[in-house]
Amino acid sequence: MTKRMILLNPGPVTLTERVRAALHREDLCHREPEFAELVLDIKRRLARIYPEAEADYEAVLMTGSGTCAVEAMVATFVPKGDKVLVIANGIYGERLAAMIEAQGKRLVLVRSEWPEPMNLAEVDRLLAADPELKRVLAVHNETTTGRQNDLAALARILKKHGRRLLLDTVSSFGGEEIGFADWNLDALCAVANKCLHGAPGICFVMARRELLDSGSSGAASVYLDLIKYYKEQKSGFSPFTQATHVCVALQEALAELEEGGGWQARRDRYRHLSRTIRAELDRLGIRRFLPEDAYGAVISSFLLPPGVPYDRLHDLLKKEGFVIYAGQAGLYHSIFRIANMGDISDSDLERLLAVFRKRFGTASA
Ligand SMILES: *Cc1c(COP(=O)(O)O)cnc(C)c1O
Repeated sequence: MTKRMILLNPGPVTLTERVRAALHREDLCHREPEFAELVLDIKRRLARIYPEAEADYEAVLMTGSGTCAVEAMVATFVPKGDKVLVIANGIYGERLAAMIEAQGKRLVLVRSEWPEPMNLAEVDRLLAADPELKRVLAVHNETTTGRQNDLAALARILKKHGRRLLLDTVSSFGGEEIGFADWNLDALCAVANKCLHGAPGICFVMARRELLDSGSSGAASVYLDLIKYYKEQKSGFSPFTQATHVCVALQEALAELEEGGGWQARRDRYRHLSRTIRAELDRLGIRRFLPEDAYGAVISSFLLPPGVPYDRLHDLLKKEGFVIYAGQAGLYHSIFRIANMGDISDSDLERLLAVFRKRFGTASA
């Protein structure tokens, strides 16, 4: 067997042997009842990860990467002609704005520099001033930097003005707290291959059933119209071919998540890993990109040590069996990132830290 590579990029993640084995368990036809049963089981399991979601929200499964779910959510739940407020403090918030533009819809963008929090004072001001802004689009965990955006504070503003939220939870669903009851959430979107520890290929939108039942869709797209999927998936079938093997693996990953104590246990594990990594790198003089309390549990960002280009650090770690992740766009030359989703054991963590210690520790340390 080849050496196990530990993926410290923000998805796809290192699979457990149990989930990997499920990938080659069986070939299924997506038009047969056994596949429909599998999809219905996945939908039930997704809805009960956050028990308060079960009564009012329903998951709609699609085949594609996370961006497919984000774009389907934006396409379906932003009516043509409506104006939305988009909050961005990283790549993924800016991508939401790019989708609205590509779909020919109207937006007001509240943009912050990437190391900064969401500009909530400006959101508050704009929502008070413009009754046309009925919906707000935001990102929960901004993977660009690792910042966990303050959704509780945003939700207070949404409640004050009576506005609804569409949320990108692609890098938090299953590994962080999500306020289904408290955040004025109409819909969120996520993916199999991040905090849920499945293989890449399946994504989903969870939306209020009331919205899905209304049958109205803003989608000017055939593939991305969630309403069409929702109607057919009531019986477990989908309008287009699904990534059947990835669905089998996702079912196994969801069973594993439940047996392991659900999202709370997973978040606690992520917190332990990410805090240990940040503390140890800090001790070695590798500085965090954000203040400690800005980070969520899934990914951390660090300034590249002086004189160490990203590629050299990447190659050094890869030789030892670890794949780290570069900064995006303008951050490529200044930061690197370490995600801690997936099957990462204590001994993997210890080996990772040992590589950093060997390269960056002083002789006397
Ligand atoms: C990973 C991610 C996405 C989707 O990226 P894909 O490459 O399409 O899977 C969207 N939003 C956030 C916050 C992400 O972390």
